[in-house]
Amino acid sequence: MLPLKAAAVKNMHAPPEALLARLPAEYRTVLAQAASLAASQAARLWLVGGVVRDLLCEAPLGRDVDLAVEGDALALARDLATRIGGRLRAVHAAFGTASVDVQVAGGSTVTFDLAGSRVERYRSPGALPEVAPAPIEDDLYRRDFSVNALAIELRAMNGQLSAGQLLDPFGGRGDLVTGRLRLLHEESLRDDPTRMLRGVRLAARLGLQPDPATAAQIQRALEASYLSLVSDERILTELCLSLEEPRPDETLRLADAWGLTPRVLPGLAWSEALADRCARLAQAPGDAPTGGPLVRAGLLLYDLDAAAQAAIAARYPLPAEAADLLRQLPGLRAVASLLTPDLPNSAVDRLLRPFSVAAVTVLHYAEPATAALTGRYLRELRAMRAPLNGNDLQRLGIAPGPLLGQTLEALRAATLDGRVSTREQAEAWVRQHVMDGPR
Ligand code: ATP
Repeated sequence: MLPLKAAAVKNMHAPPEALLARLPAEYRTVLAQAASLAASQAARLWLVGGVVRDLLCEAPLGRDVDLAVEGDALALARDLATRIGGRLRAVHAAFGTASVDVQVAGGSTVTFDLAGSRVERYRSPGALPEVAPAPIEDDLYRRDFSVNALAIELRAMNGQLSAGQLLDPFGGRGDLVTGRLRLLHEESLRDDPTRMLRGVRLAARLGLQPDPATAAQIQRALEASYLSLVSDERILTELCLSLEEPRPDETLRLADAWGLTPRVLPGLAWSEALADRCARLAQAPGDAPTGGPLVRAGLLLYDLDAAAQAAIAARYPLPAEAADLLRQLPGLRAVASLLTPDLPNSAVDRLLRPFSVAAVTVLHYAEPATAALTGRYLRELRAMRAPLNGNDLQRLGIAPGPLLGQTLEALRAATLDGRVSTREQAEAWVRQHVMDGPR
């Protein structure tokens, strides 16, 4: 996972103007408007954090663009939304933060997150911080890692976006080149233990290694059990972000090495089988069954024992579809052994239909031996319909009741197995097997 290094090295001395030129045109238009509004409000505007890191690494940009405002971020967000026809949301006056959603080409939405630059004070480990307005330099100091403590000043010249200075007070660019993950101060993980989970994600994605001081701090934070002071909801948010990564198994491998996994997902551990499952999904061709974060979660948890799965379900406030998937995993593994290549379509359908699409997609990548069957089920069988429905059967004289349900089932099976395909054949089949046959 180190392909970014060469790009990072190449860009390291790129002038900020050249970095901004990498932004999509639509982003530049919005940022030029924001910069011109900021100037009219005597505020300074900075592009900050991960987006600057990604520009340096030539990595794909995330969906959020973070902006720090030395001035009134809420007023700027409101004016920006009005000027560009964006949607103002997530306004938190107490924190001085607001977001502006903008529709871009292709119908997707980019979120511009504006926050007043601030200092943060943590009264106790893991608690949410108290904040106060402060210059951009202090704002960078409150961040997690050197590679995220970067900022480019945004200006507008004749309506066009232009760059001011690039701030890199902690040597983030150098750390990107040498592959170092570095916390900014000694108490960083005590203040916010979730930074360990952010760090492991970032390290896996960019191929970074904690520097000795960061590694020692992680060790101390684990020994002091700081993560247990954080709500399970916040931990879950971080875990879900890991599932957005194309290779969450890499994050898990590092989390194991750092000693994090037992604290957040006891019983889970990286294995070659788990990595193979995730690799099959990541390398799947375009027409293969798709899998988003939910399927990735299923692939990570697929062979976790039932007690550990139940403990996860009990601990975290999982979204309904994730809890549902977790419940299905033991049955899914059992069904895998029943799927054999000689089974007729109807039998495959009977075995797999009780499971959700996400669950069968998990099975598809988890069990390569039966991938042809699960692929066929997902692509074709699931959507196949018998030529007659319940109303048709009633018109043929079958009264509503159990027989109607059984007939629909049997007719579907006959259709899946290719014994019936037209309405006429279906009617003949019903007459022969149900109406004239034994009831
Ligand atoms: P990603 O590419 O994963 O979205 P990101 O760095 O953009 O990464 P965000 O969660 O959007 O991640 O955060 C934006 C910036 O805010 C970070 O780059 C970092 O500077 C800062 N930040 C976010 N969370 C924390 C935290 N818990 N502690 C300190 N700084 C943080």
